[in-house]
Amino acid sequence: MKALTSPVYFFGNGTSEGDPRCQDLLGGKGAGLCEMTQLGIPVPPGFIISTEVCVAYYQNQFSYPADLKEKVYEKLKRLESVMGAKLGDIENPLLVSVRSGARVSMPGMMDTILNLGLNDQTVEGLLRRTQNPRFAYDSYRRFIHMYGNVVLGIQSDEFEDILKQKKKKNGVEKDTELDAAALKEIVLAYQKRVKDITGTSFPQDPYEQLWGAIGAVFRSWNSNRAIAYRKIHHISNEWGTAVTVQAMVFGNMGQDSATGVAFTRNPATGEKGIFGEYLINAQGEDVVAGIRTPQALMHLKEDMPGAYDDLLQIFNRLEAHYRDMQDIEFTIQDQKVWVLQARSAKRTATAAIRTAVEMVQEKMISKKEAVLRISPLQIEQLLHPMVDPASPKQVLAKGLPASPGGATGQVVFSPDEAEKWAAAGKKVILVRMETSPEDIHGMYVAQGILTARGGSTSHAAVVARGMGKCCVVGCDELHINLKQDEMELRGKKIKKGETITLNGTTGEVYAGKVPTIQPKLDETYQTLMQWVDEIRTLKVRANADTPHDAKVAIGFGAEGIGLCRTEHMFFDETRIDAMREMILVDRDNFRKRALDKLMPMQKADFIGIFKEMRERPVTIRLLDPPLHEFLPKNNKELLALSKKLDLSFYRLKRKAKSLDEFNPMLGFRGSRLGVAYPEIYEMQVRAILEAACEVEASEKIKLKPEIMLPIIGDAKEFEVLKELIQKTCKSVEKQYRTKINTTIGTMIELPRAALTADDIAKEAQFFSFGTNDLTQTTFGISRDDSNHFLPKYIEKGIYETDPFVSIDQKGVGRLMEMGVSLGRKTNPHLKVGICGEHGGEPKSVHFCHKLGLDYVSCSPYRVPVARLAAAQAVLLRPS
Ligand code: PEP
Ligand code: MG
Repeated sequence: MKALTSPVYFFGNGTSEGDPRCQDLLGGKGAGLCEMTQLGIPVPPGFIISTEVCVAYYQNQFSYPADLKEKVYEKLKRLESVMGAKLGDIENPLLVSVRSGARVSMPGMMDTILNLGLNDQTVEGLLRRTQNPRFAYDSYRRFIHMYGNVVLGIQSDEFEDILKQKKKKNGVEKDTELDAAALKEIVLAYQKRVKDITGTSFPQDPYEQLWGAIGAVFRSWNSNRAIAYRKIHHISNEWGTAVTVQAMVFGNMGQDSATGVAFTRNPATGEKGIFGEYLINAQGEDVVAGIRTPQALMHLKEDMPGAYDDLLQIFNRLEAHYRDMQDIEFTIQDQKVWVLQARSAKRTATAAIRTAVEMVQEKMISKKEAVLRISPLQIEQLLHPMVDPASPKQVLAKGLPASPGGATGQVVFSPDEAEKWAAAGKKVILVRMETSPEDIHGMYVAQGILTARGGSTSHAAVVARGMGKCCVVGCDELHINLKQDEMELRGKKIKKGETITLNGTTGEVYAGKVPTIQPKLDETYQTLMQWVDEIRTLKVRANADTPHDAKVAIGFGAEGIGLCRTEHMFFDETRIDAMREMILVDRDNFRKRALDKLMPMQKADFIGIFKEMRERPVTIRLLDPPLHEFLPKNNKELLALSKKLDLSFYRLKRKAKSLDEFNPMLGFRGSRLGVAYPEIYEMQVRAILEAACEVEASEKIKLKPEIMLPIIGDAKEFEVLKELIQKTCKSVEKQYRTKINTTIGTMIELPRAALTADDIAKEAQFFSFGTNDLTQTTFGISRDDSNHFLPKYIEKGIYETDPFVSIDQKGVGRLMEMGVSLGRKTNPHLKVGICGEHGGEPKSVHFCHKLGLDYVSCSPYRVPVARLAAAQAVLLRPS
C-alpha cells in the first residue's frame, strides 16, 4: 500500500496544514474548512483525519495506521491550546463535533456526532461556564442520543420515546419547553436505556468517546444508505471518507444564538440575493432535519442586526472567492457568527442557468466557464413538464414550493411502497411527514415528493432539487394517518393509491390529474444556448419522422434531420393496412396497387417535412421495417385485413407464414427489401423527389434531401441500389424539368460495413452510424431481448454502462473509428454523422466529437442536451 502523506491536518486561527486543493485527501468539507480558514472566514478550529486513513482502515480489517493515535493527540493538544479548553476538563471542557466528509458531498448519507466530550462531570463544567443549565443538559441528552444511535447502534426511537413521554408528562408540546430539571431526568433515563440495551454504561471517558465516534464515521461510509446514494450518483466505493473533528460552537446558548442555512442566490430560481433560514436558540441539525419550521433569513436583520451584517459580508466574500453560488451552514453564538460549512449550492436547472449567465454578466466567470457549469442533465430537467396554469384545478392544500415542475401520481406513504409500485410501472407521489436519508430509494423512483414538515432547505427539498424532481415541503395542512393508509388535506381524505398532482413551483397540491405543459425556455436559457452554439463544432440534427416532429426539433435548435424513418410514417392505424398489403401480397401487380396507395401518403409527409425544414438538410431513410413489426399478430387480424383488401385469407396467411422469421432483426429488412423488391424503394424515391420538386417550386427555396440506405453490408449492394435511386431521381427531374441537389448515402450499422467502409465510401456521399443496430450486431445482443440479462452484466461490472445507452467506445467505437478513417481515405468529402439513440447521450456526443464526425442526430427533446454536450466536448478537448 502507498505510504500515507500525513494522516491528520490541523486548521484554525487563520492557518491550515491541509492544502485546500487536496479534496481527495481531506474530503470536500475538510478542504473547504481549510480554505475558509486561510481566507480569514471565522471557522471553528479543528483537525481532519484523511480519506487515506479510511481506505487503510478498510484494507486492514478495521484497524488504524500505527501512528494515528499519536498524530490525533498532537493535533488535539493544538486545538485545546487555541480554544483554551481541554477535552474532559471539568472546569472548561472542550466539546467537539465529529463529522464525515467524502470527496464529493453526499448530503445526509453518513453520520455526524455533536457535543462529544460531555460526561457527568463536564456537563456540570459547561453549566457553570455558561450559567445555562437548560443548555448544558440539552446538549448532553442530544449527545447521548446521537452517540447511542450512531456509535452504539441503538434505534433512535428508543430515545425519542423517552423524550415524547416526558413531554406528555410535563404537559408540553415542544422540546424547547422542557426545563433543565426535566432534561436532567431525560439524561438519566437515556443512560439507563443505554445500559439496558448494551449491557454497559454510557462511556464517560472523552477519549473513548472520540475513538468510538471516529470509527463510526468511517464505518458509515459503508452504510446501506451511503452505498445506495453512491450507486445512484456514480460515486466510487473506493474513495472513503475523511473525518473532521472540530470545536463545537453553539446556536442554542439562548436568544442571542442561532443556527441557519443560507444560499447566496435563490437555489430554485437563481435570483440574486440572500436566501435562507434560521432558528433562534437551536442546533444545526434542527434546521437540516426540518423538525421545526425555520424563519426566513431576512428577519435576522431585526433579530440580530450586527450578526446579519457580518453574515452578508461573509457571503459576499465567499461567493467572490469561489465564484459560484454558495450553500452555507452557520451558527451564531452570543452574537458572533461562525461558518461551519460552505459549498457549491445544489440548484435547479433554471437556477443553474440563470446563475451562470448572470455571473458572466457580473464579470465573475467567463462564457466558457458558464457553459461548463451546466450539466446536460440539467438541460434535460428544464425540458420537464410543468402544471398547466390554465387548467381547472381543485386545490387540496398548499406547502412550500421546494423544487419546481409538475408531477402526477398515485399516493404512497412509504419509500419501499414507492419502489414496489414504481417497479410495477405505476407513477407515484411519495407522501411523508418529513423525509430522511433512508427514504432516498423511494424519492428516486417517485414522480414527486410531498412532506408535511420542513423548510425549503430540509432534506426533502435539497435531495429533490438535486434530482430535479418536483417537491412540495412543509405542508402543514397535511395530516397522514398511516394506520388507515390515508391522508387528510383541509379535511378531505385521500386514500393510498388515489391520484394527486403536485406543483413544485407554487407549492400547491391538487386533486386528481392536472395536465402539464412544457416550460418556456426563457431568455437566460437562450443566452446560454447562444454561447453553446458559438463554441461547438459538431452540428446537431434531430431524428424526426413527421412534420410535427420537425417543427419541435427546430424549436429546440436542430440544424437538420439526421434520420427520417419512413416506416414510422405507417405506424398510424389508418395507414398500416396499406403497408401490410404491400408486404403480404404475392403478385407484382397487387404490390403495385399497394404501392400506389402508399405513394401519396409518403409524398404528403415529405412535402410537410420539407416545408418545415426548408433549406436545412433532411436525411430520409428508405424503408427498413423488420417485417414482424408490421404483420398482423393473429388470424383474427389477418381475416379482417383480407376482408378489407378483398384478398384471399389463405393466400395472405401463406405469405405471412413464409415471411415468418426466426430472427427478424437479422432477417428480411433494410436494403435487402430494396434488392428483392426494387419497386418499393423506387416508389419512395419518387415520393421524395416529387415532394422536393413541388416544394422548391412553391416555396422558391433550394432543398437538401439526403437519401439514405439502411442495413448496408457491402459496396456492391450499395451500388446496385444507388443506381436505382439515381435512375428514379433523373426520371422525376425530367418530368418536373428541374434538378434537385440530392445526395445518396448509407447507414453504417453492420460491422461489415465499417470494415469495408473504404469500398462503400467510393460510392456513398455520406455515412450515418446507426449505433442501435451496430451495437446489436457487434455485441450479438438483440436490441429487443437484452433486458433479461444485460442489467446483470452491469450489476456485476462486466459492462460499465448499458451499451445501448452510451456508446461502447472500445468495441463499437473502434468500428466507428475505422468507418470514419477508411471512409474518408477513399472519399475525403464524405460527410459522417450518427443517428442511433446514442446521438443524444452526452458521453457518446463527446466521443463523436473526438472522432471528428460532422453531426449527431437525436430525438428532438434531446437536441439541447446534445448541443450543450457538443460545446463541452470542445472546451474539455481543446484541439
Ligand atoms: C440504428 O440502428 O441505430 C438506427 C438509427 O436505426 P433503427 O433504430 O431504426 O434501426
Ligand atoms: Mg438500424
